[in-house]
Amino acid sequence: MSTSTPVHPLPAAAPEAAKPSNFLRQIIDSDLAKGTYAQRRWGGSPGDAAHHAAGQPDPAKIRTRFPPEPNGYLHIGHAKSICINFGLARDYQGVCHLRFDDTNPEKEDTEYVNSIKDSVQWLGFGWDNGGESNLYQASDYFDFMYRAAETLIDAGHAYVDEQTVEQIRINRGDFGKPGVDSPFRSRTPADNLARFREMRDGRHEDGAMVLRAKIDMASPNINLRDPAIYRIRRATHHHTGDTWCIYPMYTYAHPIEDALEQITHSFCTLEFEDQRPFYDWLLERLTEGGLLTAPPPRQYEFARLNLTYVITSKRKLAQLVYDHKVSGWDDPRMPTIVGLRRRGYTAQSLQTFAERIGVTKSDSWIDYSTLEGCLREDLELKAHRGMAVLNPVKLVLTNWDDVMGAGHLEPCTLPALPHVPEGTEPPAPRQFTIGKEVWIEREDYEEVPPKGYKRLFPGNKVRLKGGYVIECTGATKDADGNITEVLATVVPDTKSGTPGSDSVKVKAAITWVGVADGVAAEVRMYDRLFLDAQPDAGGKDFIESLNPNSLKVVTAIVEPSLANAQPDEKFQFERHGYFVADRVDHAAGKPVFNLAVGLKDSWGK
Ligand code: ATP
Ligand code: MG
Repeated sequence: MSTSTPVHPLPAAAPEAAKPSNFLRQIIDSDLAKGTYAQRRWGGSPGDAAHHAAGQPDPAKIRTRFPPEPNGYLHIGHAKSICINFGLARDYQGVCHLRFDDTNPEKEDTEYVNSIKDSVQWLGFGWDNGGESNLYQASDYFDFMYRAAETLIDAGHAYVDEQTVEQIRINRGDFGKPGVDSPFRSRTPADNLARFREMRDGRHEDGAMVLRAKIDMASPNINLRDPAIYRIRRATHHHTGDTWCIYPMYTYAHPIEDALEQITHSFCTLEFEDQRPFYDWLLERLTEGGLLTAPPPRQYEFARLNLTYVITSKRKLAQLVYDHKVSGWDDPRMPTIVGLRRRGYTAQSLQTFAERIGVTKSDSWIDYSTLEGCLREDLELKAHRGMAVLNPVKLVLTNWDDVMGAGHLEPCTLPALPHVPEGTEPPAPRQFTIGKEVWIEREDYEEVPPKGYKRLFPGNKVRLKGGYVIECTGATKDADGNITEVLATVVPDTKSGTPGSDSVKVKAAITWVGVADGVAAEVRMYDRLFLDAQPDAGGKDFIESLNPNSLKVVTAIVEPSLANAQPDEKFQFERHGYFVADRVDHAAGKPVFNLAVGLKDSWGK
C-alpha cells in the first residue's frame, strides 16, 4: 500500500437533468444530510485506521466500489452494477473504486483482469480520480487480513476448528435446529494463535482445520453460527503466487476490503442480505480493536438483473465457451460486455438500459426487448443509413442501354442520416451508381402477387430507392422453376431528386444495390441464443434450450459506403435493421457485418 497523499480534485457532477430518485439515492442523500461520513479522512490509498488518520479530510463525498471476481468476463448484470456504483459516485461527487476481489486463488486469471478493466472503461467509466488511481486488488490486503485474524483470536473472537468438514456441517444445525458447539470452541487465544500460525506456515494439510469467527451457534441467522474465515488451500494465486497457503473466505475478506478502502456505501445484490449481520459484526470488532476507522462502511442490497432469454452467471457463460457452444466470450450472442459490444451495442445504450430498469429491492425479470429498445434509440439518430441486399436476385433493366446509353452508369445519392439535429452539419451523402443490372431482394418479386402486395410483379411500377421508377415485365427461370433474373424497364426522367421524379406515382420504393459497384459481404444474422425465456430458472439445464438457429450466415451485396466501413462502425441497413462491421473479422475488401437489432420489436412475433 503506497502512502502518497495526492491532491484530489473531483470531477464535476454530471450536467444532465436530475435523475429519478431511487432507494440507493435516498440512502446517500440521507447520509450526506446527516454528515454520517463527513469526518472521514483519506490516506491517499487503502489502509488501516492509522494510515487514514494521518491523511487529509476525504475530498470524495462518497466512496463506492465495483468488486468483480476476476474469474470470467463481465456480463450485462455487471453492467448494471457498474452503472450503479460508478454512476452514483459521479452524481454525488464521490469516487468509485475498481477492486478485483481476487481472494479465491484457483479460478482467477490476469486475462480476466484485463478484460474487466477494458469493459469498465468502454462503458464510459474510470478509476483515475485527480491523479489518484482507485484501482485495487483484494490480494494486496492479505497481510492485513491475516493481522486482523490474529487480532480477533487475541480478543477471543475467533478459534481454530479441527472438526472435519462433515462434522462442521452437521453441527451447524439448520433453520429449525440450533448449532452445536465445536469441541475446539473453548480453546485459549494462545492455543488458537499457535495453531493459526501453524496453518499459515504450511504445517497442516488442506482442509485439516479452519479458523472460525466465534459468534453464536444458536443464532437464527445461520451465517452467524461461527462462520469459517480462513481455510488452508495450497494453490498458486495469480498475483501472490505461493506466498500463502491459507486464504480468507469471501465473507471475511469483503467487509475488510471495503473498510480499508474507506468505502461509504457498499452496494451488492440481494443474495448477500443474510451476510450483512456478519459484515457488521466483523467491522465492529475490528474498529473497536482500533484496526479500522469508524464509522465502518455499510452494505445495501439491490435486486440483481434477470433478463429474459439471457443467462447471467459467469460460470454458466464459461460453460458455453468451453463446450464450444459459442465462438468465445465475445461471441455476439453472448450477454457479456465484450459480446454485446461486438454485436453492435453501444456504451450509451447499456447506460440508458441501466437507468431505465432502475434499482429495486425485489427480484424481477426484465424483458429482452427493453435492452433492444435502448440500442435502437441510440442508433436511430447516429447510425448512417445504407442499402444492403441480404437475399439477392438480379434485376435486369432491359431498355437501359437504349434509353440511357450502353454501359451507362448514372450516379445517385442519398443522405447518410435522414434527420440531423439542428445546428449540426449533416454527414456527406452516400454516392453510388445505377446501371443496367441491380441486385434486389428475392422477396421483392412475386409472379402472382398476394393481395395487397405493392412490390414487383408483372405490370407493376415501383421506385428503386434513390434511383428511378421501373416497371416490371416478368422474370426468367431455371429448369427447376427458380427465378434467375427479374426483368423490368426503366422509366426515363424519373430519377429521385430531379423535377421529373413525381411524374409517375408508385406505391412502393424498394432497396437495391448496383451490380457495378455493389460489394459482396458476409452478414451474420443473429437470433436469441436460447429458446426458453428463463433458460436456467429452477435449475433447468440451459444447454437444452439452446437455439439451433441462433446464427445464420448469408452473403449479401452492400452499397459502396458500407463496404468502406471501419470495424465497429454501426449502420442502419435500410428496412432490415441495425448492423455493425464486425470488430474482429471485418477488413477492407472483406466486409463482415453482424445484425445488432432489427428495426422494430419482433420478439415473439
Ligand atoms: P456471477 O455469478 O456471474 O459470477 P457474481 O456476482 O459472482 O456473478 P462478481 O464478479 O462477484 O460476480 O460480481 C461483481 C459485482 O457485480 C457484484 O457486486 C455483484 O453483486 C454484481 N452482479 C453480478 N451479477 C449481477 C446481476 N445479474 N445484476 C446486478 N449485479 C450483478
Ligand atoms: Mg461471485
